[in-house]
Amino acid sequence: MNRKTLIAAVLGLALLAAVPLMTSNSYYVHMVGTIMIYAILLYGLDIVVGYTGQVSLGHAGLFGVGSYTAGVLFMKLGAPLWVIIPASIAVTAGFGALLALPALRVTGPYLAMVTLAFGTIIQILINEMTFLTEGPLGITIPKPTVFGQKLTEHGFYWLTFGLMVLSLVVVDRILKSQLGRAFEALRGSPVASDCMGVSVYRYKVYAFVISAGFAGLAGCLYAYSEQYISPNTYNFELTVLFLLAVIMGGRKTRSGALLGAAIIVILPKLLDDLELFRIVATALAVLIAVGAGVGLAKKVTTPKAVVIPVVGTIALAGFSFWLQSITDWRLSIFGLMILFVVYYLQNGIVGFVRALFHVRKPVPSSAELASADDGRDAISVAAAAGASETGGDLLIAKGVLMQFGGLKAINQVDLRIKRGSIHGLIGPNGSGKSTMMNVLTGIYVPTAGNIDFAGQSVVGRTSSDIALSGIARTFQNVQLFGEMTALQNVQVGLHHTFNSNIVDVALHTPRYRREEHSAVERGMALLRFVGLADLATEEARNLPYGKQRLLEIARALALDPQLLLLDEPAAGLTAPDIKELIAIIRKIRDHRITVILIEHHMDVVMNLCDTVSVLDFGQKIAEGKPADVQADEKVIEAYLGGTAA
Ligand code: ADP
Ligand code: MG
Repeated sequence: MNRKTLIAAVLGLALLAAVPLMTSNSYYVHMVGTIMIYAILLYGLDIVVGYTGQVSLGHAGLFGVGSYTAGVLFMKLGAPLWVIIPASIAVTAGFGALLALPALRVTGPYLAMVTLAFGTIIQILINEMTFLTEGPLGITIPKPTVFGQKLTEHGFYWLTFGLMVLSLVVVDRILKSQLGRAFEALRGSPVASDCMGVSVYRYKVYAFVISAGFAGLAGCLYAYSEQYISPNTYNFELTVLFLLAVIMGGRKTRSGALLGAAIIVILPKLLDDLELFRIVATALAVLIAVGAGVGLAKKVTTPKAVVIPVVGTIALAGFSFWLQSITDWRLSIFGLMILFVVYYLQNGIVGFVRALFHVRKPVPSSAELASADDGRDAISVAAAAGASETGGDLLIAKGVLMQFGGLKAINQVDLRIKRGSIHGLIGPNGSGKSTMMNVLTGIYVPTAGNIDFAGQSVVGRTSSDIALSGIARTFQNVQLFGEMTALQNVQVGLHHTFNSNIVDVALHTPRYRREEHSAVERGMALLRFVGLADLATEEARNLPYGKQRLLEIARALALDPQLLLLDEPAAGLTAPDIKELIAIIRKIRDHRITVILIEHHMDVVMNLCDTVSVLDFGQKIAEGKPADVQADEKVIEAYLGGTAA
């Protein structure tokens, strides 16, 4: 966070803290309090929706679990606040783990449906378990007692404020740590996450559990705030509102969550009051028109892109003055606003404002970048440790068979990869080269055959496990984490260097600081190794294609691999880029990392490889020194007979 945003954030929070001093009307104090409670939930929901990219329609249910944990503990046991808050968080986090289970199997619309069912079941359970929850009658809870004193409305407001700020800090720290990068990597490319040693399985569960913890805290505060809870609060409408708040406010921002919370608390009230609605609609039209004007002047947008939002909001303002009564139109207006946001503000309001003012992603401070420039060797010696036993075979594959239905994509292939060598794997398109890599990295489990890597079998192990044991890879169709910067991409590869847990992250303990600092240093060193240091803070999806391939190599090297698999690294590269690539692969070999290289460019293969194996229709048809293989008749025939090389 830079200085300006920090000052703005502190000022904003100070203003929020002062709300009870600015008005004597407890209605407004209660309303702003509710906004802060929702914001706590939205911080958590954003982890799941914004970062890991999963849909959850179960968060109203989790919110209810939090409320009812508080309600039941108070009613049945008279438990005090300091017991109820942690208990609500813990119980709800447990339910979050349950909600995570479907997310491990399904995604997209199916996940939305399952999480919706989850929320509904929670609501039904609350309704039916009358012995615990009093069912539809609901539970009454007075404001909590702190240090022997019952909190007033204002006292409770400041308690909520304190916990909201605490949640804000904790969530922000989590999301900027290796945990947050792991969550974001899931969204960018689950396959690549696994192959970087970041288990998709584990981090999906973490995300849901942490997210649920915040929902539990919010639910607990909500129970105290309303002083009465009943099952029908935690319904479908609320869950949809939560999701909308994240999207409208702007995913992946804390200010967006606060803004979204304000919108979903205020909007329904706004749509009850015609006068207020007219003022706001007019203000919105002016705001959008000015925004569009600025955008056009700065040439960040086109007339075509702004005409509909501008006309639309002006029409809405005009419509508000034509209206006599708003009640009939409430839902339609609400729906239109949602449509507008989903179409035109895909990054939410905060995202829109940022784009307008060219606010860039937070970057490591210049001090960090400078201190990273200490000329340390980019590739750690960990890799060399394995290579110290020179000679011998690092990888032995025997009789590998990979069958897709009737197709034998790999048919009884044996491979021996010498330590410290560059082993070429060539063959016409569709001959099974990429499939071989997918088998070696655990993406596919071979139908038959053995694969031993450094004396251990890899068959049946998960991709992340295999990655951590020392096999790193790149992908034929580049699999970067698009919304993350180049440096963050490499840092995901460095995930294995972190031992700090969520407590270290939340408290910024010395251990976490040390690990994060070293991850920045090593990340920068690796970027320098492939010549991308200048682009460290650029989002991966904005890099030119050739650079993206180099970034994938840097990310793979971050794993400290003993074996590096490169799947057509030169594809789509220009001639000078290819030269650079050859130099980089040489340097990698000089660090005693063994390389398997799939490549169509024969000059690259001839230049680099010690040994070459040739696949055709899933079978190994030749093997040997590059020159010998190139002269082999079977090989020539395979290439001439098959599609272009
Ligand atoms: P190469 O990388 O040598 O061009 P691939 O390994 O990608 O070839 O593909 C080998 C064969 O296996 C192709 O016929 C391809 O269609 C098939 N194949 C690869 N993956 C799958 C899959 N997941 N399901 C079905 N067939 C597949
Ligand atoms: Mg391929």
